[in-house]
Amino acid sequence: MLLALPILCRLVGQVWIFLSVKFLKLALNVFNNYYKIVNLRNMEFSSKLLENAVYEMSQLPGIGKRTALRLVLHLLKQPEERTSKLSVALDTVRKDIKFCTNCHNISDVEICEICASPKRDRSLVCVVEDIRDVMAIENTSQYMGLYHVLGGKISPMEGIGPHDLTIVSLIKKAKQGEIKELIFALSSTMEGDTTNFYIFKQLDGFDITTSTIARGIAVGDELEYADEVTLGRSILNRIPFEGSLKAN
Ligand SMILES: [Zn+2]
Repeated sequence: MLLALPILCRLVGQVWIFLSVKFLKLALNVFNNYYKIVNLRNMEFSSKLLENAVYEMSQLPGIGKRTALRLVLHLLKQPEERTSKLSVALDTVRKDIKFCTNCHNISDVEICEICASPKRDRSLVCVVEDIRDVMAIENTSQYMGLYHVLGGKISPMEGIGPHDLTIVSLIKKAKQGEIKELIFALSSTMEGDTTNFYIFKQLDGFDITTSTIARGIAVGDELEYADEVTLGRSILNRIPFEGSLKAN
């Protein structure tokens, strides 16, 4: 009983932190929406239709009330056909978009083009946060393996736990035995490192090699302007000179 007490306390503590973060996020959302509504009211619209359109536009991330108004006024100046195409495209993407059942990448079909391609090395899987990372790596034309899109990173501060991501599906794939190497390509942040470590621990006992993408000095950067962490990692993760010639 005494041994279970610290575990129980830790569990209660974690649940408490999780609930507090959820509550803070909810409160912040309510405040943001209230702030936007109050600000929109202060704008004195001559049309209720315009006010509604501006309000909906201002719900998008990074769009404030003035930008929303500018965008809506811009759309009003466009031919009707232009705005119809935009609304149809948004409506269709929302209704018809799918997520690949294998890698969770955004796709038009059940199995995405990358997973369906016979040219891809199925023993190599690159773990990324979202579709933007897949696009960035694909643009390099240097990678011929598959991907696994997590849909985010573990972040207790934002209330995102392992079960909010596609980690269970990744471990399920690993159990099937086809994967030989897993490449962690998450951003070099505390959340990224936590997620990498969590997955690494889950793979304990599997015959899978794990690696991370190299972190270091960017091409074209002056050494003296690099921060200590980046420079330190570059020295620790140095590669043979012949290897550096391959990427050129
Ligand atoms: Zn796929």
